[in-house]
Amino acid sequence: MWHSEAIYPDIKLQLKGELLYRKKTLYQNLELYKTDRFGKVLMLDNAIQTTEGDEFIYHEMLTHPVLLLHPKPQKVLIIGGGDGGILREVLKYKSVKLAYLVEIDKSIIEISKKYLKSICKNSFQDKRTKIIFDDGAKFIKKTKEKFDVIIIDSPDSVGPAKVLFSKGFYKDIFSALAENGLMIRQTGSTTLQKEVLKSSWKILTDIFPFVWTHLTAIPTYIGGFFSLTAASKKIDLFKTDIAYLEKKIKALKIKTDYYNPYIHIASAVLPEYIRRMLK
Ligand code: SAM
Repeated sequence: MWHSEAIYPDIKLQLKGELLYRKKTLYQNLELYKTDRFGKVLMLDNAIQTTEGDEFIYHEMLTHPVLLLHPKPQKVLIIGGGDGGILREVLKYKSVKLAYLVEIDKSIIEISKKYLKSICKNSFQDKRTKIIFDDGAKFIKKTKEKFDVIIIDSPDSVGPAKVLFSKGFYKDIFSALAENGLMIRQTGSTTLQKEVLKSSWKILTDIFPFVWTHLTAIPTYIGGFFSLTAASKKIDLFKTDIAYLEKKIKALKIKTDYYNPYIHIASAVLPEYIRRMLK
């Protein structure tokens, strides 16, 4: 059977496979497919969230570019991330003492633990993990905690995730970051979701002194380059030396399949059409 993603009115990705699980949760329509090419695929409201076949690219590029840049990340907040992929990468850092995961929908974690073990591994059971079932926008407004790194692993700006794209939300993120803190979030395809990247960039550059975008390519996130935008209070990526990153990732003995210090810096070098978009 063919299943198609429907996040754009005029372009679709179709994958061949079988439906393993479907549930209308309190917040969204959850579907899990087993596909020939990408293994298991998690979809929410008809949008691909993650696949076993290419999740490593997204989960490594949404974590290491900020975690490795921070001198010693100890307290990390993940907003969304119910599939556990981001949590798995965060927990590779021995300096991390506490990893909060604020997920609005319990069902996603339950399904991930049952069907997506290759993605979450044992991250939900790690003693450093603290799972909170809440709306990330509400949590960040009321928390008194300070975090070294905040990672927003939300779907596109639809349904329950809409609130995770507002200026007020990013101001709350800024307040919840420690003085040396960094944040990062997915900002969509640079061709099919230009507006998401442009508006996120505009809001973040109004709030943070340092903002940059990493580009990567994730086969099941259609639309060419996929952007991940980071912001920090004090740390400037462009003043960072590759040798420093190389020394650090070796010392931390962190294994990756996509990320390396060269791609860390190179992925932040933007083509002209994107530089113009972000002027
Ligand atoms: N990699 C995906 C992407 O780039 O679109 C995101 C994957 S992850 C499964 C997205 C998670 O965000 C889902 O589990 C969803 O339930 C959660 N989520 C959506 N809105 C949220 C909110 N307001 N607060 C907390 N979690 C939210």
